[in-house]
Amino acid sequence: MTPEEFRAYGKRVVDWVADYLASVESRPVRSPAGPGDVRSALPAHPPEEGEPYDAVLADLERIVLPGITHWQHPSFFAYFPANASGPAILGDLLSSGLGVQGMVWATSPACTELETVVVDWLAELLGLPGHFRTDAAGGGVIQDSASSASLVALLAARHRAGGGPGRHAIYVSSQTHSSLERAGRIAGLGTGRVRSVDVDPRTLAMDPGHLDSLIREDAAAGLVPTLVCATVGTTSTTAIDPVPRIGAVCREHGVWLHVDAAYAGVAAVCPERRWINDGVAEFADSYVTNPHKWLLTNFDCSVLWFADRVPLVETLSTLPEYLRNAATLSGEVIDYRDWQIPLGRRFRALKLWSVIRWYGAEGLREHVRLGIALADEFAALVRADERFEVLDHHPFGLVCFRPLWNGLGAEEADEATLALLDRLNDSGELYLSHTRVHGRVMLRLAIGAPATERRHVRAAWDRIRAELDRR
Ligand code: PLP
Repeated sequence: MTPEEFRAYGKRVVDWVADYLASVESRPVRSPAGPGDVRSALPAHPPEEGEPYDAVLADLERIVLPGITHWQHPSFFAYFPANASGPAILGDLLSSGLGVQGMVWATSPACTELETVVVDWLAELLGLPGHFRTDAAGGGVIQDSASSASLVALLAARHRAGGGPGRHAIYVSSQTHSSLERAGRIAGLGTGRVRSVDVDPRTLAMDPGHLDSLIREDAAAGLVPTLVCATVGTTSTTAIDPVPRIGAVCREHGVWLHVDAAYAGVAAVCPERRWINDGVAEFADSYVTNPHKWLLTNFDCSVLWFADRVPLVETLSTLPEYLRNAATLSGEVIDYRDWQIPLGRRFRALKLWSVIRWYGAEGLREHVRLGIALADEFAALVRADERFEVLDHHPFGLVCFRPLWNGLGAEEADEATLALLDRLNDSGELYLSHTRVHGRVMLRLAIGAPATERRHVRAAWDRIRAELDRR
């Protein structure tokens, strides 16, 4: 493709994306495609000769779009949001246009240095402690996902803990994201070494007393308690683990504290939500939050900070001959390949930089505040209807609720809730997901897509009630 051809098609693609975003509301939120529909519509073999780009765009409309679930739809309320925004899309396009591979500082100094500045900016915007900054002992780095971030944190923690293979144990709760269990497996911790700490039955927050006794037991048995993962905003219900008390236990036993705030951490951009980071400054060794969930930044962009970068770099650093260069040897630069699992890395900082500059701190706060306010309003509507139960705890954009189904037993009621969910999602008018809380199925309505307004949340509530009435 020549630059002129790229210019022509590029303009069409940008127009296509703008039209898509402007009209996404008219599409069914969840893709109606069944298994194999998209695949069977595609040629089984690649073309021998190149094709005009128009053919690709035509197939995008005809084959790909029907298989798309529209995460940017204003009535997408499932899982957690995966925000896209104009400045983030443009930042990603610029990154693709530059085609930079920023594995070490020397392979593109701006790729590294812009990232350093942007993650330091984000730490400041979220009120994270000064020692997380790269000009102090710590530093931040953009990862592809919170799952990778937690694995990297575990590797650094294991390095710091020392101890022989098969002796390390980590501590999570039943509410911790499954990526920690996987991190344990990937890191080769033995069976049973990912220990499950009890939760408070009411708040679903980790019990620091039980954590303390598990750590003591393990240490007495000759294991090496290595890392505790505390979550700020759990995946199921946005429960918040008591970081200050967990941190005190970690400090006493010399265990690494990793804070997983993948979804909720960005809420700290609002000063009135900074309390969610209580204990982080005093105790956290690492902390992750995902701008790619709720902070207007397209997937993938997960930011991981360390209080002390030394164990991280010591555990992941290698210097094969082909990467030797004067800047690395001088020790004056950061080589982010030492801060992540892969060697290669995209110029992700461009999109986060674009987002922060376009919206400014106030624009980001406005987005988060709207999500929280609409969630509060939705919860109040549900609470006012005696046919429903709502989980009181909803400090962010997620509300968990369920119809009571008076007269039905627990199992039948759960089945009825899931059937209601299917009917709602099949309608294409909105998209919710579900979880289990205290053994019971609950619906999850997560607000935070950039296009969601009050009217969409009201319409969702009307639709849910109408579906219940229809039964
Ligand atoms: N941690 C928490 C609390 C999450 O809610 C999620 C995803 O929803 C993750 C980790 C995993 O995030 P990622 O998809 O970036 O790996």
